[in-house]
Order: sequence, then C-alpha cells, then structure tokens
Amino acid sequence: MLKGKTALVTGSTSGIGLAIAKSLAQQGANIVLNGFGDSAAPKAEVEALGVRAEYHGADMSKPEQIEDMMKFAASRFGRVDILVNNAGIQHVAKVEDFPTERWDAIIAINLTSAFHTTRLAIPAMREANWGRVINIASAHGLVASAQKSAYVAAKHGVVGLTKAVALETATTGVTVNAICPGWVLTALVQKQIDDRAAREGITVAQAQNDLLGEKQPSLQFTTVEQLGGLAVFLCSPAADQVRGQAWAMDGGWTAQ
Ligand code: NAD
Repeated sequence: MLKGKTALVTGSTSGIGLAIAKSLAQQGANIVLNGFGDSAAPKAEVEALGVRAEYHGADMSKPEQIEDMMKFAASRFGRVDILVNNAGIQHVAKVEDFPTERWDAIIAINLTSAFHTTRLAIPAMREANWGRVINIASAHGLVASAQKSAYVAAKHGVVGLTKAVALETATTGVTVNAICPGWVLTALVQKQIDDRAAREGITVAQAQNDLLGEKQPSLQFTTVEQLGGLAVFLCSPAADQVRGQAWAMDGGWTAQ
C-alpha cells in the first residue's frame, strides 16, 4: 500500500515509534529513523522488511537540528510523505515542585518539535497533493492526571495543533490526525512502574496492576503493534476523510 512513499518517525529507536516505523515498512514505505541510543539495531530491523532505512540523530529539542533532519530526509528520499511525530519524554511531580528545566524540555520535545517538523514537511506534501501527519498524543491529550502538568499541557497542545493544521489542509490530499494511546508497556512507562514499586514498597507486578486498574478499564496494555495498525489505517485511502481527529486507543480510559 505504501510502496514508494517515505515515512519519517521521530523517536523511533524504541517503543511506539519503532513499532510504527516497522508497520509502515511492512506496507512498503522507506523509513527515516530518529531518536537516541543505538540506531544500528532498529535500522537493521526495518531494512529486514525489504525497504530502505536511514537514521538521523536530531535532538527534538533543537530546532536547527530538526531543520537539518528534514533536509537530510529530502536529500535521501526526495520528500517526506508520512510524518509521525512520536518523540516524547515524561516527568512526574507536583506543579510547585516541577523543575522548570523539565517543563521546558517536555514542551520542546513533546509539542514544539511537532510544530517544526510539520511546518517543514507540509509544503512538499501540498505540492504532491498527498501526505499524512500522525501525531502521537496520549490519553493525556484528552484528559489530565495529577503530577503531569507539563506532559498534559504538551499533549493537549498536540491535539490542538493537529486540529488547526487539519483545517489548513482540509481541501488537499494531506490529512493530519493524532493517536491517543492509553498505557503502553514501553521504557517510558516501565520507569513509572518501577518508581511506583520503589515508592510504595510493593512488587513491580503489583505496581503494574495498580497502574492499569487506576485508569485503563480493560486492565490490559495497548500494544505497540496495535498502534502500528492504526497508523497504517490512517495512511490508507479509507482514512482520506479522517481529519483533525484525536483517536484514542486506550482500553476505555477516556470513555469514563
Ligand atoms: P520510549 O521512551 O520507548 O520512546 C521515546 C523515543 O523518543 C525514543 O526513541 C527516544 O530516544 C526518543 N527521544 C526522547 N527524547 C528525544 C529527543 N530529545 N530527540 C529525539 N528523540 C528523543 O517511549 P514510548 O512510550 O514509545 O513513547 C513514544 C510516544 O508515545 C511519546 O510521545 C509518548 O508521550 C507517547 N505515549 C506513550 C504512552 C505509553 O504508555 N508508553 C502512552 C501515551 C502516549
């Protein structure tokens, strides 16, 4: 379905981003990977699916590095047809204790980076009259939790950005949508589970059950493969008129 297209996925060296990159590669898309840590293994995993993969290590908190990454993608593949804004970080603290440096980093990486990649990707998408922007927001783009002021503000911001750009592109073949996962068992969430177990003096398994029980009625994690499947759907012709949506995949979290 996506043969000949190029997908750039930010924060795709692990977790949700890597799974979405692989799901798009399975449909034939060439991939630009980004993120910290080891890039050789993720690149090899994508290439094993029979597509071309490139890696750019831009720090999503640095606009000039984002510009360099977008130029790099265009130079290697001509243009970016599918942009997945996925890079994200978390920090948990009450607002009065929230380190201002963590606030700035979360807003920069989880929200402002999507503004930069989007503004740089849209012109070529408009010219081709086809494009997909998929923003990985969160259930926290729709509802809040205590101690996550920066993350909730950034993710609500991502949902707003999604709607605004979807309206600006509404008469074109470019669609812009957000995906709002509930709990997904990745490094980002494992850290919160481990911190909770240590703080409350309970086992990791108990902390995991408590975490799910608090928010996610299905009591099951959303999987990275399920999120990859939704991203593929949003790239399909069936999704041509899905525009400006914040699509939850959260085991019922935001139905409550
Ligand atoms: P993860 O920690 O496994 O992956 C995060 C990715 O972002 C990694 O590749 C990391 O290297 C990259 N990254 C971090 N800071 C970066 C920076 N400054 N520049 C470039 N790359 C950077 O986490 P994940 O759970 O896969 O999270 C992916 C996205 O999904 C995030 O936006 C997160 O907010 C969102 N999300 C996750 C969950 C969940 O339960 N795991 C739920 C809802 C939304």
